[in-house]
Amino acid sequence: MASDAPLPPGSVIGILGGGQLGRMLAMAAAEMGLAVHIYAPPGDNPATDVARSATIAAWDDPAALEAFAAAVDVITYEFENIPVTTAEFLAARKRLRPGVRALAVAQDRLNEKELARRLDIAVPEFAAVASRTELDAALARMGVPSILKTRRLGYDGKGQAVIRSFADADAAWVTVGGVPAILEAMVPFTREVSVLLARGADGATAAFDVPENRHRSGILDTSTVPAAIPPALAARAVAIGERIAAELDHIGLLAVELFVVGDGNGAALLFNEIAPRVHNSGHWTTDACLVAQFEQHIRAVAGWRLGDPRRHSDVVMTNLIGADADAWATLAAEPDARLHLYGKAESRPGRKMGHVNRIRPRRA
Ligand code: AMP
Repeated sequence: MASDAPLPPGSVIGILGGGQLGRMLAMAAAEMGLAVHIYAPPGDNPATDVARSATIAAWDDPAALEAFAAAVDVITYEFENIPVTTAEFLAARKRLRPGVRALAVAQDRLNEKELARRLDIAVPEFAAVASRTELDAALARMGVPSILKTRRLGYDGKGQAVIRSFADADAAWVTVGGVPAILEAMVPFTREVSVLLARGADGATAAFDVPENRHRSGILDTSTVPAAIPPALAARAVAIGERIAAELDHIGLLAVELFVVGDGNGAALLFNEIAPRVHNSGHWTTDACLVAQFEQHIRAVAGWRLGDPRRHSDVVMTNLIGADADAWATLAAEPDARLHLYGKAESRPGRKMGHVNRIRPRRA
């Protein structure tokens, strides 16, 4: 296996997944003189527009995976629902950063919450629910309101059902498809924030400022920086991210979503979930920081020293979901704004088509 020396310009980064995150990672890699080879199943893969090469094949195609591993210098992922067996197959052949464990933990909400609890990070009350009967038992113990979520493959509010009264239990169980799930207490949060930090191959970490995130229909709508929280609370949030990154021996960008309960320095932080990759709530870094999350991730994966994550501007990032992106001409003409479009072939309701970063001079 390769040495610990940083990969020089000209090296090839293999990226598993071909969506917008892969696309923005590929553009950052190109700016560093690195090339990208995308591996993704057939579909709309906008990352392939900006990559040197691409393998379009199933996650369980050993010949394609073998050839991909041989063609790249290091492998990373932009999508966390890659089968763990695929990640293990690749990790046996080429360095995979972040590793298999970060992927396995992030794929399962129960694993995530248990990891946080083991690290003494406060989590909302939760219970594993594997059957309709277990749902009744969990509801009797935890009460309502609560949220039932599939353990695996949920994203953007999918695979979730709010339970406001015991009579909602049947419908919630049908909504999640009767698969292994967890029941979580509904958190009366005052705001949602996320930690975005990179951890390098040398164990050094660099955190971006903490954004405040608003959701619409379960999908991220805006990330605002700075968040309206005291610096001490933001520091506590970052410390949570650092603990998780160290525990996972993570290399790359790590996002941790947190609920804030209460206000001011006395507020509590409750763990929601992690993403072992660049994250939608970090898209503002491209236009408000010297080094953005995408470059930071590529630096870590390539074994480079991390860059400077300092923020030079205040910013509000707004996602363009479905038809929102039809206003591209107006958005492109806005002063103090930078429009990012993902080049997706087809717009659908709920689909992330782009985002816009609205910039203001930094005040604090
Ligand atoms: P998730 O996929 O777990 O990030 O959930 C999507 C969004 O649903 C979160 O960002 C919250 O806005 C909301 N949500 C999820 N879990 C809870 C909870 N336990 N209590 C209150 N709101 C939640």
